[in-house]
Amino acid sequence: MSEITLSGLEKRYGDELAVEDVSVTIDDGELLCLLGPSGSGKSTTLRMLAGLETPTDGDIRIGDEDVTDRPAYERTTATVFQDWALFPNKTVLENVAFGLKMQGVGKEDRHDRAREMLERVRMAEYADDDPMNLSGGQKQRVALARSLAVNPDVLLLDEPLSNLDKRLSEDMQIELREIHAELEETFVHVTHDQDEAFTLADRIGIMADGTLVQVGEPNEVYQNPKNRFIEGFLGDTNFVEGTVERTTPDAVRVETELGRTVGLPTAAADATALEAGDAVTLSLRPEVLSVEPVSAASDDAESSGAVRADGSTTNAVVGTIENVLYRGSTVRYSVVVNGTTVFVERTVGDGSAFDAGDEIRIDWDGADLLAFRDDGSRVDL
Ligand code: ADP
Repeated sequence: MSEITLSGLEKRYGDELAVEDVSVTIDDGELLCLLGPSGSGKSTTLRMLAGLETPTDGDIRIGDEDVTDRPAYERTTATVFQDWALFPNKTVLENVAFGLKMQGVGKEDRHDRAREMLERVRMAEYADDDPMNLSGGQKQRVALARSLAVNPDVLLLDEPLSNLDKRLSEDMQIELREIHAELEETFVHVTHDQDEAFTLADRIGIMADGTLVQVGEPNEVYQNPKNRFIEGFLGDTNFVEGTVERTTPDAVRVETELGRTVGLPTAAADATALEAGDAVTLSLRPEVLSVEPVSAASDDAESSGAVRADGSTTNAVVGTIENVLYRGSTVRYSVVVNGTTVFVERTVGDGSAFDAGDEIRIDWDGADLLAFRDDGSRVDL
């Protein structure tokens, strides 16, 4: 059993509160990614799990045991670091066998086990090499094999892929996922890279300013971000500032900086409790925006914000393309609408192509937008 429970975990460095009141249960066999910007407390949390830092408050249980005060070498965890930390004067095989040697495992047994681990990470043919002659990706595989060799209950990974180039990192993400599926052990993986977290994680724990802000399955945190910070951090979006104009029992109407009133269909008490004059920020994700040439005629642009019989709302604005950016399979248009820049994306080769200077109409359904209050909290629509 290697379920991990963190309760009220805190770490202070002098006046600096690096980690504050982190509580979460990580299931046995789960792969949890701690995701957050630099300085948000991810590494410190992981290092406390590893026993490399002592918490100032709170406790850590692994399985049935309280390990809060136990040193690293008495824990059933193993850590893979960003910088590999391989020994230069030992062969690849000796590096992988090192932890077992420390545990007093005999030479033949530990070398057998090390070879098995090297096969698992597809590095068996390098067993007798000097690790310093390996590429970054190969070194990381060896480091992984070394951590797995001691058969830990919990594998802790501290930004292990951040020194690799994008392509290699993506390959390693898939391999890590496979290794995790094979081993069925608990992994806690720290990263600042959203794509990496989405590829790897069973659940993502999002950290900001030392706190664990939200924990959920990747899809859940993306669809239901708890606050504006998470919405901005997890993907590209357009934040549009606005002020509540009025609320009705089935909708909130928001006057926006786009020069249009936007209708948000809702019957939720949280939303209808908003009052005229309240500041709100709307998130217009590029995937909910459709674009068409202005010549295609805007039948209802003037009634923008009205709620239709089916509960959707018509929302349309007209803007001028300022900038066209090709990004491989997609093209991103920056569009100036009433002095505010909004970006929209299209798939390259979908039949429409616009140039800088073109006028286009941007459309969306108000039901697809998210709204946030002044304090960043999400409005339940
Ligand atoms: P992350 O892993 O998310 O980048 P860290 O856990 O490394 O964040 O750091 C969280 C905060 O704690 C940062 O503000 C960092 O400067 C501070 N911090 C981390 N380690 C130490 C330390 N040994 N001494 C003082 N401050 C530290």
